[in-house]
Amino acid sequence: MDRVECVVAGAGVVGLATARRLAQAGLEVVVVEAAGDIGTGTSSRNSEVIHAGIYYPAGSLMARLCVAGKKALYTYCDQRGISYRRCGKLIVATADDERNKLTAIKTHAEANGVDDMKVLTGAEASALEPALTCVGALLSPSTGIVDSHGYMLSLRGDIEEAGGALAFHAPLLRAKAVSDGFEVEIGGDAPMALHCRTLINSGGLSAPAVARAIEGMPPDRIPTSYYAKGNYFSCATRAPFSRLIYPVPEAGGLGVHLTIDLGGQAKFGPDVEWIESPDAASLDYAVDPARADRFYPAIRRYWPALPDGALTPSYSGVRPKIVPPAIARQDFVIQGPQDHGLSGLINLFGIESPGLTSSLAIADEVARTAGLPA
Ligand SMILES: Cc1cc2nc3c(=O)[nH]c(=O)nc-3n(C[C@H](O)[C@H](O)[C@H](O)COP(=O)(O)OP(=O)(O)OC[C@H]3O[C@@H](n4cnc5c(N)ncnc54)[C@H](O)[C@@H]3O)c2cc1C
Repeated sequence: MDRVECVVAGAGVVGLATARRLAQAGLEVVVVEAAGDIGTGTSSRNSEVIHAGIYYPAGSLMARLCVAGKKALYTYCDQRGISYRRCGKLIVATADDERNKLTAIKTHAEANGVDDMKVLTGAEASALEPALTCVGALLSPSTGIVDSHGYMLSLRGDIEEAGGALAFHAPLLRAKAVSDGFEVEIGGDAPMALHCRTLINSGGLSAPAVARAIEGMPPDRIPTSYYAKGNYFSCATRAPFSRLIYPVPEAGGLGVHLTIDLGGQAKFGPDVEWIESPDAASLDYAVDPARADRFYPAIRRYWPALPDGALTPSYSGVRPKIVPPAIARQDFVIQGPQDHGLSGLINLFGIESPGLTSSLAIADEVARTAGLPA
């Protein structure tokens, strides 16, 4: 059986960032990915927003790693020439009773270390975005958008440059805890068995399933999977906005918001559609056109000029939830030996948004959990 120091299961943005961090710390790393390329899962089905870190509960991993990850990601993009735009975001109040929520959101964001937000009057917001209708807004200047594929390609380059390797069509089938690490069985095109000291489970939607395939992993430490699909609609006409536009959040979600890509194309969403029987292998990513009926009135609250028929079904992504719909809010879970008792194993559960933004900071947190120097 071949021996390596570290196996990372999953080549999404978080697995890649983690593998890079561990390879650059001097570990011999092999990334095994079930699919045929990097980033084909949730990492290519998101909004590509660099989140500021506004809403997450103070003291949560999401709050801390989003703010640290945002800073690290902007620096990394500058160093590597990865396309991004620090376009900013407006959170808009469209009714008088929403206006005082803006100040509360600003105060909350400050507790998370997001200290550059500005409350604007409706007139000030319209001066920035003339097509916008609102009675007040909150500007988040540090929110941006990024070329997530350029970012992941760069991470892959770093892994290989540091001596790491990636194997595709190489699903982790099962693993067994042994005295000095793990014996890992890989299936797919070129089945193999590897012995590693450190095993990182970065399987995204399948992370709980991967954990269940590890002999010795206590079942009561493996969360139940719940999937919440997020559907996007694109806009046939060019939307007249240069910033991201979010309504004041409502109970249970961020509301129907507008994001733009680096080409200036606007999209709306994602909404929230809970999936009955979570199964990563049989996910249907098609967007039901009928869901547009709920988008039009929500968007017209802040963009009344949205033309009839402008919305077309686009793509979807699925949030790897580990709490049921009734709870919905969750934190990232980075589970190390002190949580499950298996030396060398780190499980990443519930890495939903802002996982892209946080990826470099999650990688640092995994390295810390693995006992590597900062
Ligand atoms: C609708 C939506 C919008 C989002 N928008 C944003 C945003 O704007 N900004 C932001 O910061 N975050 C956003 N996110 C979150 C972000 O996309 C994710 O947190 C991030 O992509 C997770 O990366 P990952 O590597 O953990 O998972 P994934 O990208 O899902 O990668 C997991 C990988 O593991 C592989 N795998 C699974 N099982 C195995 C196995 N047994 N063996 C080997 N490989 C396996 C899969 O094939 C997959 O490639 C959004 C998420 C969703 C759903």
